[in-house]
Amino acid sequence: MAWRCHGADNFELLRNLKINQIITSPEVYNAMRTVDRQYYVSQAPYRDEPQAIGYGATISAPHMHAYALELLKEHLKNGERALDVGSGSGYLTACMAFMVGENGKAVGVDHVHELIEIAQANIKKGNPELLKRIILERGDGRFGAKNYAPYNAIHVGAASPEIPKALIDQLKPGGRLVVPVGPPKDTQTLTVVDKNLEGVTSFVKLMDVVYVPLTDEKTQWTK
Ligand code: SAH
Repeated sequence: MAWRCHGADNFELLRNLKINQIITSPEVYNAMRTVDRQYYVSQAPYRDEPQAIGYGATISAPHMHAYALELLKEHLKNGERALDVGSGSGYLTACMAFMVGENGKAVGVDHVHELIEIAQANIKKGNPELLKRIILERGDGRFGAKNYAPYNAIHVGAASPEIPKALIDQLKPGGRLVVPVGPPKDTQTLTVVDKNLEGVTSFVKLMDVVYVPLTDEKTQWTK
């Protein structure tokens, strides 16, 4: 995966993500053009690397956000429903909300209460027009967000030793889940789970990644 997509501004960052063929579709380009990282992380928003956002969390690198959105784009069509587990800064939740259009919904779940407030404030600053299609909820994302299920697209922004069953259960037939699978403090495997229209799931392991762990709140804070 490229780490060379840094830009001086959002336009240059997106251009470099395109040149490196990480952004390959207008849908993802438009989402990341509309959701400008400067409102979601104060330091070095256009560097292509993860940045600390406090509370043991990071905003993922732009190339990982772009990559995840490309994987999910067929499941983020107008009117569809998306779940972002470990919503952190709110950046990806906002991108998903943009892509599902005004008839869709994007649900962000994070277990750190402060991060839910930060994400809310970030979206209010950067993309207030998206607020009405976004639900941010504090909770343990390993159990998904049952109240709004099923989802066409589920993104997990933290690594889990195994794929949480609740997330597979909350995936709509025809839907797709993208999740980093593996142990904390090690390399994990970005995994795509597709549920076909008969409800049968298939798994594809895509590439090595390094994410912060999907864990309980206390472990994250005291790490
Ligand atoms: N995708 C986000 C954040 C990635 S960091 C962004 O790019 O901004 C991973 C996030 O997962 C953190 O915000 C952390 O608080 C959250 N997290 C970790 N374990 C969790 C759990 N069990 N339930 C909900 N959120 C969790």
